[in-house]
Amino acid sequence: MRRKCIECKYSLEWEVFNYSLENFGVPLCRNHQDWLRGVDTTEETIELYFALRKRGVPAQLEKFDGFKTIDIAVPEAKVNIEVDGQHHNFNANQALTDLKRTYHSFLKGYFTLRIPNSLIRWDTEKTADYIVDFLNESNYRKWEDW
Ligand SMILES: [Zn+2]
Repeated sequence: MRRKCIECKYSLEWEVFNYSLENFGVPLCRNHQDWLRGVDTTEETIELYFALRKRGVPAQLEKFDGFKTIDIAVPEAKVNIEVDGQHHNFNANQALTDLKRTYHSFLKGYFTLRIPNSLIRWDTEKTADYIVDFLNESNYRKWEDW
């Protein structure tokens, strides 16, 4: 593993590198450690986000599109990923809100992938692999291999 920040590719000193791996599971520079601490999201979303970043996906965490915040956005592929907790399954109001959001995104040409929390907890790597398959089949330009 290269000692570079997974977000900005800044070269990391051993101390920073080791600290980041221990605390975040991925190599991050000090700035991006602060950034991640400030992001309001779930553990599962962060886990999936970094699994995608490790696969070279130009994903964005908690991206505001002017209307709503998308858990994980891949604008290049026109794919939005929403990581759903259990309340999305059991609460009809929430489900209707989700459906409306999916519709508005669809009108703008965005496909929404809904990934249950439980799937990420069960197998993050397999989940990320399947999402990459989706991205590869979308109108996707080859992403940069970092
Ligand atoms: Zn960084």
